[in-house]
Amino acid sequence: MSAHDPNCIFCKIVAGQIPSKKVHEDEDILVFHDINPWAPVHFLMVPKQHIASMAQVGPEHERLMGRMLTLAPRLALEQGCNPYPEGGFRIVCNTGAEGGQEVQHLHIHVMGGPRPWLRG
Ligand code: 5GP
Ligand code: ZN
Repeated sequence: MSAHDPNCIFCKIVAGQIPSKKVHEDEDILVFHDINPWAPVHFLMVPKQHIASMAQVGPEHERLMGRMLTLAPRLALEQGCNPYPEGGFRIVCNTGAEGGQEVQHLHIHVMGGPRPWLRG
């Protein structure tokens, strides 16, 4: 599997070829605001390497996936989600056509803020 797919929109965002509103960046992970938010807070967490979806995740990704999930609560609060338990957030990872995945680069949606939301 190549680290980057030249036809992938999220690889282009990782490479800076398409602009995004960044929330967090480190060696392995980029986090940016969803261009079409469903909720007052809605950002996407992506691995910098091209992984098509959760269906391709294996033991070699344990550390990466663990880091993304443990980063999510901190970024959610920083981005304006209200604290647990009255507030909170929703994490969604659409996978495959029947899972509603539109962009074929693994991404974790983190959504929160006061309801009602546009979707979900
Ligand atoms: P999926 O349906 O694949 O789980 O979600 C893809 C998400 O990516 C959608 O919520 C959509 O709004 C977002 N998205 C698609 N293209 C872009 C883009 O160019 N920039 C940003 N920031 N978000 C995008
Ligand atoms: Zn990609």
